[in-house]
Order: sequence, then structure tokens, then C-alpha cells
Amino acid sequence: METKTLYLYDSYLREFEAKILQKIGNQILLDQTAFHPLTGGVAYDIGYLVKGNLKWKVLKVEIDKETKQITHTLEDVANDLEQGDIVKGFLDWDRRYKLMRLHTAAHLIAAVMYTDYNTLITGGQVDPEYAKLDFNLPRTDREIFESAIEKATKEARKGVSLKIYFLTRKEALKMPGVVKLAEKMPPDEKELRIVEIPGIDLQADGGPHVKNTMEIGDIRLLKIENKGKNQRRVYFEVK
Ligand SMILES: [Zn+2]
Repeated sequence: METKTLYLYDSYLREFEAKILQKIGNQILLDQTAFHPLTGGVAYDIGYLVKGNLKWKVLKVEIDKETKQITHTLEDVANDLEQGDIVKGFLDWDRRYKLMRLHTAAHLIAAVMYTDYNTLITGGQVDPEYAKLDFNLPRTDREIFESAIEKATKEARKGVSLKIYFLTRKEALKMPGVVKLAEKMPPDEKELRIVEIPGIDLQADGGPHVKNTMEIGDIRLLKIENKGKNQRRVYFEVK
């Protein structure tokens, strides 16, 4: 049985109830979860699982891409937990909210880079303290990234509300802009989650985002790295 992905439907869900489907040592498989696993370049959530007055720290969350099962790695082997138990999950909200702000900021920067320099993202990672994005760009000018980040911050301040919805693969492929990404998705993915920042960006995306770009705050450039021919990496944070 696959784990129901509550986080795909509500990025602001920070408490939930779930049933333990399986326990192997300190690895807990749940029937549903609000913990976002490490996927799509966004770091996993941490937090707690609680049963009665007992509490276990969740250190890591991973998804098995084949079975779609989500495993929560606990700090200790939880002798008091067993298959069939109902537990409550609590996210470390400070960490998660930072990931949401940084992830949404990454969309804005990518959109500006695409519009202004016709350059595409080739990789990226969102961690709690900062995020990095790789661009297919032959020039190293710091001004390019300074200007893109300044523009992205200005876009964020406009307070645009995000739209998140599901489309069938067939419907998604009809939308210009989603096509390229959607074609890369595995063919067995019947429904695609679309994240739209109206007027700015449109992606097929499974990660957590803020509801409104105003929540991002100021985006700040940390550093730029040259990663070889046409590969530039930018590090940024949100304040
Ligand atoms: Zn995203």
C-alpha cells in the first residue's frame, strides 16, 4: 500500500494522524503523512511522532519511488510502537516554512532567469538555511544574478497568490510551459500537480510552497560558483 501524501494537498498542514503500516527497527512506514520526503530537490521534513505521552524524534523522511511508500526514520528503535498503532505526527514548522519560502523564491529566480537571459535550470537543492540553483549559462557575471535576485524580490513583494491544482497527464501536456517538464515525468503518473505563480511561473511540481509570494521576504545572493562549461551555480537565502 502506498503512503497518502497529505503534503501535496496542503503545504500548511503541520499536524496529522496516521496508522503504522510497518515497523522495521527505527524505520516507520505510515499510511499517510504530512512529512515531505527528500524529493524534487527539496530537503525532507523533520519533527516528531507521538503516541499517548510518548514521543519520538523523526530524523529523516524518504520515499520509495517504486512503491510510493514513505518511511520515517526515528532517533531510537521505538519499542513501544507497533504495526497498526495510530500515531500523531508533528512537523518542525520553522524548518518546513523556511523550505517553502526558499522553494518559492527558487521559482521566481528561475522565471526571471528564463525571461531575461533565456537560460534553463539544470539542477538545484533547497536546504533549510539556503538554496542553490544551477543554470545553463556561459557567462559568470555576478551582475546577472544580482539583477535576477533583485527582480525576483520585487516580484515577491507584489504579493501574488499561488494556485495549486491537479491535471491529468493528458491535460497537462496541452499546456504550454508544462509540456517539457511533463514529458520527463514517468508515464505511469496519471495526475500531475501543477504549481502556478500567475503571470510568473508554471511547473509540474510536488514540493511545498507558500500561499502568497509576500511570505518569501527578501531574497539575498550568497555566492556564485563556476561549475564548468556553461554551468553556473547560485546560492541564496531568504530574510
Ligand atoms: Zn517547486
